[in-house]
Amino acid sequence: MHTDLVAALDIGGTKIAGALVDGDGRILARAQRATPAQQDGETVMRAVAEVLGDLAGSPLWGHARSVGIGSAGPVDASAGTVSPVNVPGWRDFPLVDRVRTITGGLPVELIGDGVAITAAEHWQGAARGHDNALCMVVSTGVGGGLVLGGRLHPGPTGNAGHIGHISVDLDGDPCPCGSRGCVERIASGPNIARRALEQGWLPGPDGDTSAAAVAVAARAGDPVAVASFERAAQALAAGIAATATLVEIDIAVIGGGVANAGDVLFTPLRKTLTDYATLSFVQRLTVVPAQTGTDAGLVGAAAAALTRLPDVQAASH
Ligand SMILES: [Zn+2]
Repeated sequence: MHTDLVAALDIGGTKIAGALVDGDGRILARAQRATPAQQDGETVMRAVAEVLGDLAGSPLWGHARSVGIGSAGPVDASAGTVSPVNVPGWRDFPLVDRVRTITGGLPVELIGDGVAITAAEHWQGAARGHDNALCMVVSTGVGGGLVLGGRLHPGPTGNAGHIGHISVDLDGDPCPCGSRGCVERIASGPNIARRALEQGWLPGPDGDTSAAAVAVAARAGDPVAVASFERAAQALAAGIAATATLVEIDIAVIGGGVANAGDVLFTPLRKTLTDYATLSFVQRLTVVPAQTGTDAGLVGAAAAALTRLPDVQAASH
């Protein structure tokens, strides 16, 4: 039993989650800490160590054979370092070495969080059975990852498929990344909300100005709220179509808080996709919601760790 157990870490700007995961993707133990994101790097590392310490307290810990880490990016998997935008205390932080030391030398696999969610969706979710897929997270930011030829394609540094920062508007607004008109600059939750407010949308009595509140208004027919989601959908469609044309994906999976808007996003997205995905080999491209939910980061990190074990095929089909 549990001979193929792995430890998984999901490191984001608000929380650090950990789990012991078996070869079928079941989470058998959990631990979590808030990310002390504005503290110095060693303080953030202590929170990671506490999560691992909690997991090590599980009677199953002795069966863990490797560690998978999905981290907010950018990451550099080739160097084993992370520099999450929202964790300023970590710049080129040697996370892989530090985790390897804490865990007594277990092999450690590092991927970006967008790639982790892609691994999760390919293993357990909406991209299961698809050999060529783009999986995306649309929330505070926009991230993603690729499955190509039946395998996760993290790229040399673990960031491949980062669709949020390809430009779909050549002379568009400056993006914090330094480019212009990025998918994220148009389609992220904060940008959906900002655009609606700029165009005259007024929040309800509760004063909620989040993208979720804009989605509620759009569902009720508010034309400004609808237009803001349509613009986000257009940016996503252009980015997805470009990706499909480059590498021939047949499915795009979208998760994250903005995807919870449902038809308000997916209906204009599917419609607009036909404007951009025009060549014969991309016309059958489908767009579906993600299925793996809040544990996607952990499950994906586990999938990455499992694929490195020589005798386990769970996540590599
Ligand atoms: Zn950008």
